[in-house]
Parts: sequence; structure tokens; C-alpha cells
Amino acid sequence: MATLRFKAIQLAQSRKPIEIKEAKKRSEIFGENVFNEGTMRQYLTSDAYKGVMSAIKLGKKIDRKIASQVSASMKEWALSKGVTHYTHWFQPLTGATAEKHDAFFETIENGMAIEKFGGSQLVQQEPDASSFPHGGIRNTFEARGYTAWDPTSAAFIYGTTLCIPTIFVSYTGEALDYKTPLLRALHAVDDAATAVCKYFDKNVKKVTSSLGWEQEYFLVDKALAGSRPDIILTGRTLLGHSPAKGQQLDDHYFGSIPSRAFNFMRDLETECMYLGIPVKTRHNEVAPNQFELAPIYEEANLAVDHNSLLMDVMGRVALRHDFKVLLHEKPFAGVNGSGKHNNWSLSNDAGVNLLSPGKTPMSNLQFLTFFINTIKAVYNNEELLRASIASASNDHRLGANEAPPAIMSIFIGQQLTNVLEELEGVTNGKLSPEEKTDLKLNVVGKIPDVLLDNTDRNRTSPFAFTGNKFEFRAVGSTANCANPMTVLNTIVAKQLKDFKIEVDALIEEKDLKKDEAIFNVLREYIKSSKNILFEGNGYGLEWEKEAKKRGLSNNKTTPEALKAKISKKTIALFEEMKVMSKKETEARYEIEMEDYTMRIQIESRVLGDIAGNHVVPTAVRYQNMLIKNVTGLKEIFGKDFEKHAGEQIKLIKRISENIEVIHIKIDEMIDARKKANKLTNFEAKANDYCKNVKPFLEEIRYYCDKLEIMVDDEIWPLTKYRELLFTR
Ligand code: ADP
Ligand code: MG
Repeated sequence: MATLRFKAIQLAQSRKPIEIKEAKKRSEIFGENVFNEGTMRQYLTSDAYKGVMSAIKLGKKIDRKIASQVSASMKEWALSKGVTHYTHWFQPLTGATAEKHDAFFETIENGMAIEKFGGSQLVQQEPDASSFPHGGIRNTFEARGYTAWDPTSAAFIYGTTLCIPTIFVSYTGEALDYKTPLLRALHAVDDAATAVCKYFDKNVKKVTSSLGWEQEYFLVDKALAGSRPDIILTGRTLLGHSPAKGQQLDDHYFGSIPSRAFNFMRDLETECMYLGIPVKTRHNEVAPNQFELAPIYEEANLAVDHNSLLMDVMGRVALRHDFKVLLHEKPFAGVNGSGKHNNWSLSNDAGVNLLSPGKTPMSNLQFLTFFINTIKAVYNNEELLRASIASASNDHRLGANEAPPAIMSIFIGQQLTNVLEELEGVTNGKLSPEEKTDLKLNVVGKIPDVLLDNTDRNRTSPFAFTGNKFEFRAVGSTANCANPMTVLNTIVAKQLKDFKIEVDALIEEKDLKKDEAIFNVLREYIKSSKNILFEGNGYGLEWEKEAKKRGLSNNKTTPEALKAKISKKTIALFEEMKVMSKKETEARYEIEMEDYTMRIQIESRVLGDIAGNHVVPTAVRYQNMLIKNVTGLKEIFGKDFEKHAGEQIKLIKRISENIEVIHIKIDEMIDARKKANKLTNFEAKANDYCKNVKPFLEEIRYYCDKLEIMVDDEIWPLTKYRELLFTR
């Protein structure tokens, strides 16, 4: 019965690190499989090259003629690298990436064949996508979906397939993917931020949003992971008693990387280099067998694509090393879960990071403008920002005293807190020459290049300013970064737009100078958004109370949190910024709520199966062994047997008690599921699953885990935590 477990352990322990070949210099292979600027210069005619570059840099449309030239060159390049197929690569709302491969190969008359890839195949495709989530957008058969080329993210070769990054939209123009709203949000923030930049530098034409993600993950031996039905089906362990040793010694964090994992990382990094993903950092994380990988930051759309691609590539490379990658936010109870910090900043086309303190008072005023507007944007939309990272799996992490709480707040450090306090005292209206000089010399002039306390940051904050960028830490490890990045860029765009209107009004109506007007508006923003700033311990109960007083939301579960996605305010915001229509916003809400329901439903079914068909029968088997032992003792010792069999009898009883509760709870859970399934409204159903089904997961687990430590280790069928976490 437990043979699978022991076979898996034996196999896992016998594995040797897989040798890999590494290029001498990574810079030599970087981007080799990407149709990037360098490749385009080489393969495209100068017209086509100019066309694509102006699409990338200025958002211009590419006409058919140029598309045909590009597709011909792409084909030539791909064929020279042994590619046979192409695919439109997109990110539907399942959270995974999607692709359907077509061969270049095509037959012509007389039984001959050619390799073909025309402009129309590059520009648009119609995948048979009827089973992708659409939230009611594509109800009718006419409302089909199509994928359209996104020239801002370069095509790449993976294996023998040419992958063309695309957006996925319905024929009626509604977004059916993660990328479309992101591109719109990036456009919005570009417009709004460029307009504000012009206060400081008239020549600015474009503002780019950057993202540097940090991907955390677990590596578990493939055989061990494969021996656990819960890991296979849900990506996490639904039961398992804590091992005697967990992460309490902190001996894994930043420790030397175990060899098998190390070779996996080098192999993965090499793949990333070919694909143009600029990975740079690797290290052990806090929990045993937990690791992190981070790239150099890039333009946000590209960074999102690269993270989605990475998550896919990781899984494939891991198999070569006999690992399974667990990207789930909480694969193991009792040790840290995984997140994906999203480091975010804005920079202009002169290369100035707008969130980096500068060298002159004017550049610092620009910094403060973007810094304070971001704070205000987050304050005004904290609930929506929380919703942007809500998922069934991330619920395990937020507020679990290891990851940021479900309450959104911003950490800025002592030095910047002092600066904001000074600015709060700025005079209303016109400033005296003395005050202006004082501000220049002593406030905006004194922001140091290195913000000391921002290097030793507060790890409990969900949204921290870390010197030259904001770090959104509450994002989950499985998340598609597009979701939080769409929201963050949209709210900042809206805020900057409002800021510009207010500053212009003061200049025109109150006859203030530009910098006076900016100081005046910023002062009011600091006052009105102070409540979002928090420097203390985000894990503490005290903060929950304090946050409540401050009127901040604390939506602990996904169904609660997601409501903010369809509030009147959100719908108006997305419409105003042209990021999503009401219909698109509502569709996404429905999809995410349904996703939540399905995930809890699957977990509940899997746990019911494991508890009923693995745990209980094993416990009964062990109980029978005990009964046999007690009967034997009775035969030998007669009336006196209880003196010798006392402990066994107690154990027999305890096993029965636990089995009984498990049976009762499984039945109750099934009833709860049946009731929830009868609900036809998706919202009511998700709420019901959250309130009435989910609690059983914890309860049933508790009794199963108790049985785990009662039953003979030799017959326990499920690979244990110590084996999953400490096999290297
Ligand atoms: P940590 O100590 O949190 O790991 P790092 O300094 O290593 O922080 O940076 C983490 C991520 O932040 C990396 O992906 C890095 O490229 C990214 N990053 C650094 N500067 C910026 C910036 N200005 N904008 C966006 N991301 C940035
Ligand atoms: Mg970080």
C-alpha cells in the first residue's frame, strides 16, 4: 500500500545532479532566439524595419504590406534555425499561456509542398477558442475570438516553434486576455505621465512603465510530487503533518544552493538567455526547498510576457532535472509560501527614472510629484489594488503572518516621511521668496541619493518604496503580473491626469507659478492620503485595529475582495481611462469568481478522496494490526492483559474517534457542496463555497494529520512533509 511512497523516496534519494552545458558567456547567447531589434535590422528591409520600430516606439499601426515583409523575414530567420511550426502565443484568462501550433508546411499542386507564412498569418489568427473563459462576452456563435500580433513584444523561438506574442479579443472588440487591458493601461499612464513630465522637461514625449518581478517557487522531486494526488491535482498539499524541523533554524535562506537545484537553475537561466529573458539573481528562499529567481527589470508589457513564458519554461526544464516546480502560493502549511514581488517604476524617454530622487531641486520636485501621486493613487484605490491580487491560492498567504496582510498600506521610510511632513506645512497659495528658497535648500534639495532606511526595508509592508521604485509585494507566485500591473498603471494614470487638471487650474485661475501650484496640490494630497502610510509591523493585530479606524479595507477572502472590481467607481475608472468597458470589467469579475469556486470545489473533492480512500483505510489497517496485537496479548496474559495492552487500546479508541469525525465531516462537506452547486448565480456560489465549503478543508485536514502521527510510518501511503521538503 505504501509502496509508491517508498519507491518514490528511494528514487529521489538515488538521483544525481544532471550535468548541463553552459555557454561561456551569457551575453553571447542572450536573445539568440528572439526576433529582436538586432535580428530585425539584419533580416528586414529598411521600410519594414522602420515600420515595426515606429509601431513599438510610437504605437503606430503596421500596414499589410509591411506585415508581409516582416512575416517573410521572420520565416526565413526561423527556418534557418530549424523551426517547423509557428504559433500565436497568448494569455487567456485561464492564467496559463496558450498556443496552437501550425506548420509552415503547405501543399501546392502536383503533390509538391512549400514552407509558407504570410502577412495575414502573422497579423491575425482565429484559434478555436470557444473553451477559453469569456465571462459571457462570447455567448453567441458569431462572437468568435481572434488573436492579433503585438509587435511591442518580440517573436521568439521555443523548441522548434516560432512564437508570436498576440492579444486575444472577441470579434466585437472585447478583451479576452490579460494583455489587452494591460496595453491600454500602459498607454493611459504614458499619456498622463508625459503630460505631467512636461512641467519639468518640455521635450519629454514618452513615459514607460517598468516591471521587475521576483519569482518564488518550490522544487520537489518529480517522483515524490507524483506520489501525492493533492500536489498533482491542486498544486499544493491538502494534508500532511508538520515535520519536526521546518524553517525555524533559518538555515536554508541564502544558504548554498543544493547541487540538483543549482544545475536546474543554470539550465533554466541558459534557456532564459536564449529567449531574451534577462534573469540575473538566484538564491534560496526562507522555506526548505524554496528558491527565487529575478530578472533585470524591463518595460512592463515585455516583463509580463517574460514572466508568463518563464513560468511555462520552468516547468519544462524542471522535468529534465526530475523536479516538479510548485508555483502555488502555499504548497505546504507551516512554512513560508511563495510570492512574486512586482517592482514598479516609471521613466521618461530621456532615461530619467521618475521615482528616483535627483540631484537638483527641480528633479527632486519631479520625483516628489510622481512619488506623492502614486501614494494618492494607491490610497484612493486600495480596495481595487487588493482585488487585483486576489485568488483562491493567494488567500492562503495574505495575512498569514508571513506575507503582507490583506490590508493595503505603503511603507516609505523615515527620511521620506520627514520630507512629507515638511511639505505639509507649505503655505496655502503664493509662496514668499524666503519660503521658496527654504523649500529648495532644505526640503526638496535635501533628499539624499541613497535613502538609508529603504535598504533595510519593512518586509511586512504590501507596498513599499524601495529607493527608486515601489515594490508591490502582495502579488501571488502563480499570478499573471498583467492583472496587478493593469490596475497599478491605471490608477496612477488617473491620478496624474487629475493632478494636471488641478495644477493647471491653480496656475490659470489663482495666478500661481508652476512650482507654487505643484507644491500646493501636493500638500493637499499628502494631507488627504496620509492614512495609507504605515511604517509599523503589518502582521500585528494592532495594525488591523488601527487600519479599521483609518477606514482602510481588510478583505480577507477572494470573493470579498473581488467585489471592488465591479464597484461603480472601478467601472467608471476603467471606462474613463479606456482600459476596460463595463462589459469587460464585469466579465472578468465573473471569470475570477468562477475560478475561485472551481478551485475550492476541486480541492474539496480531492481532499474527500484522499481522506476517505487513503487516510481512513490506512488507519483501519493499522487499527487491525493493533487489535490483533491486543487479542494476542489477551491470549497470553488472560485477565491481566490490560496492563500490557493499555496504550494499544487507547490508540485503537483514538483512531476510531478520528475516523468517525473524518467520515462525518466528509459527508457534511459533500452536502455543503451539493447545496452550493444548486446556486445558479456565480456570485452567490463563490460566496457559498468560501463560507460553507472551504472551512472543511482545514477541519478534515486536522484529523487526517493527527492520524498521520498515530499510524505506523511503514504503511502510511502519502509522502510526508519531511520527505517532500528535505530531499535534495
Ligand atoms: P530585492 O532586494 O527585493 O530582491 P532587488 O534590488 O534585487 O531587490 O530588485 C528586485 C527587482 O527589482 C529586480 O527585478 C530588479 O530588476 C527590479 N528593479 C530594480 N530597479 C527597478 C526600477 N527602477 N524599476 C522597476 N524594477 C526595478
Ligand atoms: Mg523584493
